[in-house]
Parts: sequence; C-alpha cells; structure tokens
Amino acid sequence: MTRKDEGIGRILIEEAEIREAVREIAAFLDAETTGRTPLLVGVLTGAVTFMSDLMRAMENHVEIDFMAVSSYGDDTTSSGVVRILKDLNKDIAGRHVVVVEDIVDSGLTLQYLLDHLARREPARITVVALLRKNKPDAVDVQVDRTGFDIPDEFVVGYGLDYAGRYRNVPYIGVLDPSAIREWV
Ligand code: 5GP
Repeated sequence: MTRKDEGIGRILIEEAEIREAVREIAAFLDAETTGRTPLLVGVLTGAVTFMSDLMRAMENHVEIDFMAVSSYGDDTTSSGVVRILKDLNKDIAGRHVVVVEDIVDSGLTLQYLLDHLARREPARITVVALLRKNKPDAVDVQVDRTGFDIPDEFVVGYGLDYAGRYRNVPYIGVLDPSAIREWV
C-alpha cells in the first residue's frame, strides 16, 4: 500500500490480468490490420496508459493520434454532454482508424466520437475498449473488442482518475465511498 493507493477500497482487476487482456486485444488488432498501418486514436486522458501498453504489444506498424473530449465534470456520473477539447492532428480520410477507449459507460462519448470521425470518411473504424460497464440503459454503440465487462461501479487506476488522482495506479480499483465523500 503506497500513498497513491489511499482511498481505494478493493482491487477489481489485477495488473497481470490487464497485461493479458492487452496482449489479446493487440493480437486482435494485428490480425485486423495485417499489411496496413492503422492510426490508433487514443481518447485523452484516461486511455493514455492503455494506448501506451497496447501499441507496444502490437507487432504491426502503427501511427498514433489523440483526441480529448469531455462528458464528465468532476462528478462520477455521465452528463451526456460531449465537447471536443482537442481534435486530431492527422487526416483520417481513407485510413483504418482504431479508436482506443479506456472505458465505455453510457456509451454517449463514444457514440459522439464515432459520428464525428465517420464524417471524415476513414476507410474503416475499429473500436477497442479496455473496460465496458454492464448498464442496461447504455446506448448501443460499436465496440469491436473489450478487455473486461465490469459492474456499474466507479473505477479508478490504469489511466482512470477521480478528481485528477489515481491515474498512476497500475491496477483497476473501486474507490472506498468515504474517499468520494472526502473530496466533494
Ligand atoms: P460515457 O460517455 O460512456 O458515459 O463515459 C465515458 C467517459 O466517462 C470515459 O471515457 C471516462 O472518462 C468516464 N468514465 C465513465 N465511467 C468511469 C469510471 O468508472 N471511472 C472513471 N474514472 N471514469 C469513468
């Protein structure tokens, strides 16, 4: 237990399990993109850790780019409002784009992002997400490969934050409710 783990009630997904899932998703993407150089599009900020491990686990050539969107305030529930804070640097027309998401919750952010990307006429879009929440009322959005289906709880670690903290925790954990109350 180090300082950065304080407030985490329990570990949901261990580092070794994440590593294995990342390897499987990388193998899936290598097979999907054989002979081509996909553009991996990471969704900031939560997906940086996943993106960084995923691209290194792939055997194919890749290029990377990032987008920043916001659908959350400092709260732990989805607002449904999506804003683009940073757009892509690269032109995606005719390219195979792989959207790399940390977590799909309501699916609203991803749905918005996919509409936005599709308008630029990429040859193909593949979507991978490390985590997907089991939510009956989530929108039906394209996700081609998921690492883990998780319960509808607020998780942190491996890039995911709560009020800016916990991104550098190497596993996925569930916050202790007392930690949430302390900071709001
Ligand atoms: P959605 O639009 O699918 O509801 O939410 C997507 C975004 O909300 C994610 O990219 C992530 O930034 C944030 N989010 C959703 N659920 C969680 C969670 O359990 N923990 C954290 N830290 N962020 C979440």
